Amino acid sequence: MRSNLAGPRLLLRRLREVMAEPITAQERLDKIVVLIASNVVAEVCSVYILRADGVLELYATEGLNREAVHNASLRVGQGLVGLIAAEARPLNLPNASAHPGFAYLPETGEEAFNSFLGVPILRAGRTLGVLVVQNQSHRTYLEDEVEALQTTAMVIAEMVAAGELEAIAQEATGLDLSRPITAAGVGLAEGVGLGHVVLHEPRVVVTNLIAEDTDQETARLEGAINRLRLSIDDLLASGEIAATGEHREVLEAYRMFAYDRGWIRKIEDAIKNGLTAEAAVEKVQSDTRARMLRQTDPYLRERLHDLDDLAHRLIRELMGREHGPGMDELPQDAIIIGRNMGAAELLDYGRDRIRGLVLEEGGPTSHVTIVARALGIPTVGLVDDIVSLADGGDAIIVDGDTGEVHLRPAADLENAYAEKVRFRARRQAQYRRLRNKPSVTKDGVEFSLQMNAGLLIDLPHLEESGAAGVGLFRTELQFMVASSFPRMREQQAQYSQILDAAGGKPVTFRSLDIGGDKVLPYLRSIQEENPAMGWRALRLGLDRPGLLRTQIRALLHAAAGRDLKLMFPMVAAVDEFLNARALVDKEIKHLRRHGHAVPENVRLGVMIEVPSLLFQLDELMTYVDFVSVGSNDLFQFFCAVDRGNTRVAERFDTLSVGFLRALKSIVDAANKAHVPVTLCGELAGRPLEAMALVGLGYRDLSMSPASLGPVKAMLRTLDAGRLSARLLPRLDPGHDDNNIRDVLKRFAAETDVAL
Ligand code: PEP
Ligand code: MG
Repeated sequence: MRSNLAGPRLLLRRLREVMAEPITAQERLDKIVVLIASNVVAEVCSVYILRADGVLELYATEGLNREAVHNASLRVGQGLVGLIAAEARPLNLPNASAHPGFAYLPETGEEAFNSFLGVPILRAGRTLGVLVVQNQSHRTYLEDEVEALQTTAMVIAEMVAAGELEAIAQEATGLDLSRPITAAGVGLAEGVGLGHVVLHEPRVVVTNLIAEDTDQETARLEGAINRLRLSIDDLLASGEIAATGEHREVLEAYRMFAYDRGWIRKIEDAIKNGLTAEAAVEKVQSDTRARMLRQTDPYLRERLHDLDDLAHRLIRELMGREHGPGMDELPQDAIIIGRNMGAAELLDYGRDRIRGLVLEEGGPTSHVTIVARALGIPTVGLVDDIVSLADGGDAIIVDGDTGEVHLRPAADLENAYAEKVRFRARRQAQYRRLRNKPSVTKDGVEFSLQMNAGLLIDLPHLEESGAAGVGLFRTELQFMVASSFPRMREQQAQYSQILDAAGGKPVTFRSLDIGGDKVLPYLRSIQEENPAMGWRALRLGLDRPGLLRTQIRALLHAAAGRDLKLMFPMVAAVDEFLNARALVDKEIKHLRRHGHAVPENVRLGVMIEVPSLLFQLDELMTYVDFVSVGSNDLFQFFCAVDRGNTRVAERFDTLSVGFLRALKSIVDAANKAHVPVTLCGELAGRPLEAMALVGLGYRDLSMSPASLGPVKAMLRTLDAGRLSARLLPRLDPGHDDNNIRDVLKRFAAETDVAL
């Protein structure tokens, strides 16, 4: 049943006047409750605000005992008011005391009232308080009255969000909106960042809530929805989006919502009740969010994100605002928070002012993670709901080591972290002092420490870390962050920029290692049961020689007149390398024939990452110019543990006898054949593991730039000869004590190795 519509609209008009009055927050709330009570013809109207300690405090009332204001309170979940806050849903009851959740507060004198209508005060799906009306008679409130109360709740939500109520909040507890929150996610890029929140897609704050002219607002909504539909249809029709895949699914979901009559009707109803078009979209979205946030079904939560995005687009459409924060408004210590973003979007912010990155999605291998790591930005991913919990400007700490995010941290926590940051900085400074010191052990064994890279932005680390060269350049990263397949000339330009930036230090390129989990959005991928063991890397390169040939040609051009070092990933049989070598030889001949300059010296190598090669080492060494051990993949296939699966990834120790013997067989075979050997997997960058490699005989290691300092510090305090003498006998059969990790730790402690 509907009452006439003049009521809610009139209420909103009066509310607008109250909002504009130059009075205190308490006076404003007091006036608002009087206004609502008279509009809904209720004897009682009360506002409860959620405090940081999870208690709902009575902030204003018309009809209950005045003395109860700021004295009466309920916990979330307690009584009807607590229930509304907990469930973020209205309650409309003709006989409140009959409800099982009823708990009455004697200090308020509410026992005289029977009917009860309460709505949550919501903002971006978060409950900030509860608004209640009560009557003595047993009445059921009309749909319009519920709407009117919800709309008023929005106005109060804006007062809370604008910080207006802080002035009348009890100092010891404060409001929920400013409550410190610790959220757990997954550490994606190490390091700790302290700073202030910048929302990647800032919520457009709707401050103009109350309509002047309802018909005009309905027409504005219609226009905006039409423009929105057109833009989605255009995107779907344009060839830019692949016919299948994630992007298309998201857009299809957008389209479904944009044409959803139920959604649009709810917005139109809110306008009819006196809201502006943008406020109406926000209100409907806030209601939907509150309802759907309780969903645990991941599919539905995903759709909620889509609907959120769509509502934001519609609001932006209505308010005519460009999306994204203005770069000049970026604080010096920005911590970017977003649902997800592309690698290029992160690069757009510029490195200087970013102290951290927090994403609701974002996995360890996503492109934005790769770039964040390359830029040294502490990053945490998979943090649920962080976008709606955070507000622009909030203080925040990102701990990429533990995967924790502390929003609005308490002062002591902030101090503890500031100390941690200072400690890290001191350690980094110590490592920097080692930069130009030789990588040599106490007993005079010399090492070459190189760094791993994959993007041009990595190259400055070469100078900063003092690395001897780039021991592994993962060429696929540039392909992964590009929006379309880089053409030969683009590839060539990139490779020559890399060589220029390396300034004469050697760079070992690795041919494209795509497939598996490294997918290129623009390259049609096929579904595979076991992509890590599927059509990836050199297998794909040899089956599609066009791709590999283009890359080889680009590398040969780029390195013309200089040295080219190129290695092939995921080789399982010597033949595969010979085929790849034949492709390179053919390309060199082709270039020479056409009068192009070629590199002075081309050296070709193999990554040892498939265990089958362990049984072909002697043959392999006769053909290759060098080998590099990809211990990440080698270990994954050696022990049959998926390197990306956290359930099993830690199951076996990389320092177990079996794997160390395998690593030793490689270095021995290479030394015997006088073939240079490097190890470029993550093992090389962990000081204790690197120490084991030294004991096995490895002298050339390549690692992430940040690991160079710690590994060099270890080397310079190590006696390599003594270590080998301690370690190698342990690998012989017949040892009961197989815990090599402990053996190494004991050795380090006894001989003062800096770990
Ligand atoms: C490896 O597998 O150890 C390696 C260095 O290659 P990626 O990590 O790129 O697979
Ligand atoms: Mg690998």
